[in-house]
Amino acid sequence: MGTRVYAQLWHEDAAKAEQLLQDVMTEMERINQLMSPHISQSELSLINQSAHNAPVKVGMELFSLLQTAQSFSDKTAGAFDVTYASLGYRFDYRKKIKPTEQQRQQATQLIDYRGLKLNSDQSTVQFAQSGMRIDVGGIAKGYAVDNCILLLQKAGVQHAIVTAGGDSRLIGDHRGRPWMLGIRHPRGDQHVISLPLESIAISTSGDYERYFEEDGVRYHHIIDPAKGRSAREVISTTILADRSIEADALSTSVFVLGVAKGLQLVNSLAGISAIIIDKRGKVHYSDDLSVPAMQKP
Ligand code: AMP
Ligand code: MG
Repeated sequence: MGTRVYAQLWHEDAAKAEQLLQDVMTEMERINQLMSPHISQSELSLINQSAHNAPVKVGMELFSLLQTAQSFSDKTAGAFDVTYASLGYRFDYRKKIKPTEQQRQQATQLIDYRGLKLNSDQSTVQFAQSGMRIDVGGIAKGYAVDNCILLLQKAGVQHAIVTAGGDSRLIGDHRGRPWMLGIRHPRGDQHVISLPLESIAISTSGDYERYFEEDGVRYHHIIDPAKGRSAREVISTTILADRSIEADALSTSVFVLGVAKGLQLVNSLAGISAIIIDKRGKVHYSDDLSVPAMQKP
């Protein structure tokens, strides 16, 4: 998945615990094989290779993930948009490669989730225009973490953490105490905020994960579909939710939306909390986490 995967769990049978850790890694890799844009035979790559020509039939799993992605596009007025990849694929952050200005402008016009046609009767995917591409990097890690958590819950595990990159989900507590999870300082290695958590999903999106700088501009992996460039208003967003898929999609979305629109969205959604660090380093909290709300009787 191009990211670090981590799991910790308790089980009274040590051999069973080992097996479950293995099962988590196997599930992560299965999803990677299905959805990676870097694997030419993945279902996602097959869509990118052919969906401009004709409808491409895909399995239920990727199809329903794309439906979920589209519902987040609707909820966020297009801030979350898997067709961002029409532009996003032209960046290679490790090699410091970016599109030319002409390429950037052309590709930006292709970003539009409404041009991603999902036919649920046929389970097919088609692009409205050639040149379009998709990437589920903003939601697939959360989806994978949820699957792994489900697998552990089915096996009777009552205390566990599963992490893929910035996405984590917890089963229960850390054996009598809460799990302590940190939000990294966006410009340093230390944690700026530590949160005591249990039985919850948490996802952080940051502009420090994949980026390069050139002429004082930071080119990073979260693209504002409306502007056709990296989102710049905030530098870190953390979302708390029951499920990882929601936390993941919303952390990417709120990163694009910025402080005012992002908090407005989060405050309108039941069971979702946000911690946003803006570009000046100021921390903003959703209403449910802010101090006045906590002081209410
Ligand atoms: P995350 O790792 O959750 O912060 O999401 C960042 C990843 O989401 C990027 O590496 C891209 O794969 C993808 N992405 C970037 N911009 C967008 C966007 N506007 N909508 C949906 N996915 C995006
Ligand atoms: Mg995310």
